[in-house]
Amino acid sequence: MNGGVMTAAQLGFYGCPICHRVTESIPGATDARCSRCGERLHWRKPNSISRTWALLLTGYLLYIPANILPVMHTDSLFSAQSDTIMSGIVYLWASGSWALAGIVLIASIFVPAAKLAILTFLVLSVQRRSTWDPLDRTKMYRVVEFIGRWSMLDIFVVTISVALVQMHSFATVSVGLGAVAFGAVVVLTMLAAKQFDPRLIWDSQADAPSLRESTDGHS
Ligand SMILES: [Zn+2]
Repeated sequence: MNGGVMTAAQLGFYGCPICHRVTESIPGATDARCSRCGERLHWRKPNSISRTWALLLTGYLLYIPANILPVMHTDSLFSAQSDTIMSGIVYLWASGSWALAGIVLIASIFVPAAKLAILTFLVLSVQRRSTWDPLDRTKMYRVVEFIGRWSMLDIFVVTISVALVQMHSFATVSVGLGAVAFGAVVVLTMLAAKQFDPRLIWDSQADAPSLRESTDGHS
């Protein structure tokens, strides 16, 4: 449906990532700078695909300890207990806090997995120069970016439970390595989403066979 789209890059225009001014390229120039704020300009984010892949793969690796290792240790006079995300959800469910169990399940298990999966799909689709509806893919990218800022929700849940337990009992609660791994997954997926250049989605719709060949300079 989008055949015949011309991109700004093909017409010789750069967009500034900082101040969003559109700057026309100077033929023969090796180093493009924004004419307003002086930011270095690129047709597309440099090495977007490989950087996104590196962040995504690290995210996948850390997703395992985030779910296996305990996120919370509880020590009281009588017992010591370690909870993973899943055992915490089971505990919340069993103790009747269904809403909280649901929130933690969605925020800690489904959302990070969905974000990793969507970004992987987007990167693969760009690499294979897929023509799958670019508008739909752009919307998917927007969703990933939007939920990025809400993904720390369960870290808040852990923090609040730590505070509540410490206020109401003699127990001490500390944060486990699983929570550190989880936080890293959230940050890595946010960085991966930042590194991914959504304009690449539209490049496969553009008239020219490949933009990557002209990414080093404009001739
Ligand atoms: Zn600028």
